[in-house]
Amino acid sequence: MSLPPSRASIDDATTKGELSSFDDSTFHRPSSQFTRSIALKKISPSLSPQYEDQQSHSHSKQCHHRHSGDENDTPHRSRHVSLLHKFITNWLVMDPNLLDNTDKPHVKNYQKVENSKYVFFLGGRLHTIKSRNPISIITLALIIAPGVLFIIFEASWQWHHVSAAVTMMFIYLWLVNISLFLKLATGDSGRLPKNLHMPKKITRRQPSADEVAEVDGKVQWEVEDPPSEYFNTLTLPYNNEKHHGIQVKYCTTCHVWRPSRTSHCGICDICVLNHDHHCIFLNNCIGQRNYKYFLWFLLVTVINCLYLIVVSVIQLCFYRIGDTDIHDMRHSIRKHPVALLIVVYSVLAFVYPFLLLLFHAFLTSQNITTREYLNYVYKQKKGNFVNVYRRELLKNWYVNWWGKSSGVGLTFPLDVYRDGDVRYQTIEPLKTFE
Ligand SMILES: [Zn+2]
Ligand SMILES: [Zn+2]
Repeated sequence: MSLPPSRASIDDATTKGELSSFDDSTFHRPSSQFTRSIALKKISPSLSPQYEDQQSHSHSKQCHHRHSGDENDTPHRSRHVSLLHKFITNWLVMDPNLLDNTDKPHVKNYQKVENSKYVFFLGGRLHTIKSRNPISIITLALIIAPGVLFIIFEASWQWHHVSAAVTMMFIYLWLVNISLFLKLATGDSGRLPKNLHMPKKITRRQPSADEVAEVDGKVQWEVEDPPSEYFNTLTLPYNNEKHHGIQVKYCTTCHVWRPSRTSHCGICDICVLNHDHHCIFLNNCIGQRNYKYFLWFLLVTVINCLYLIVVSVIQLCFYRIGDTDIHDMRHSIRKHPVALLIVVYSVLAFVYPFLLLLFHAFLTSQNITTREYLNYVYKQKKGNFVNVYRRELLKNWYVNWWGKSSGVGLTFPLDVYRDGDVRYQTIEPLKTFE
């Protein structure tokens, strides 16, 4: 009879790299987490060949969950799935929840993320959060649209009447802007691995009457007897007695002790280092590994808007200085209507990124995150909060805008998955005392 794994044994196995001893069937997976977005349900049955192949594996219990509601689809269609189809659904765009990796010898970490909130692209190199909210797609379209208009209608005029450099410079700025957006929307924000610091005991339990059908004979384990400090905020000492020290907390969902300035993002369902905020326009968190790029994204967006305004105004007013048959502004607008459209668009698009840029210029001057600012500075006006990370103004700006290394990622989605690696499994969150 196998014994339940203890925290010590997991730590030991993790440090030695002997994770294969840890059986992934020992964890209870809450059924609610199997819910997926409607959009993904629609594509799943026909687009994921491996998913369909599961039907022949009677031992695969997860299939019952995954196939519920999809019975009307033809079961044998995927057996003749084309290579192109596989390429699109397993490499180009991939949802780990829809894959069955039981028989595959070399599964990558990203393919084993249980109850994943992410969709992966390009073989796990990029990812984004599953969401029905299209706001990040709209944001990308709003960045691309004025550039396309400029290139189609204005670039040639600028090239011949002002300078070729105007067009080339714009295209450069525009591409930088798009690249930064894609990096922020699909990159690592500074995610911490899950389940690094497990509670004392993981014990076997009998499933309740309601759960019997749902768990389908699978062994149920639950975490038990966590030390009380797991539910408290610990204050690490700081050398000034008048002020608070540095507070650290245990994340009961991720089962990790959070380093300072780390917090849990409910939307990404992960703890993020140096968490600034979750950006709905990028559909990703802003944290340790992408804050610098976020700042530059705001700056480049603002510069891009100003650039478009200036070159379009020059185009509209060119009749005053250049050799042209246009005599007044009305005539000029009739001749270059897209230039006017771009001016109006850019003025409107300029406002929000500019205000955000000013706010972050202020925050980085103090070396404080948005989260800290809202939690402490705004609420605690009595002066009993000290920002222990604050240095001189130029140093603060330097570390945030230029010097801060995004560092090495702590999660390695492209590594080959080692059987039983707890970091990719879903373990019930600890329950607070009730
Ligand atoms: Zn967490
Ligand atoms: Zn987030």
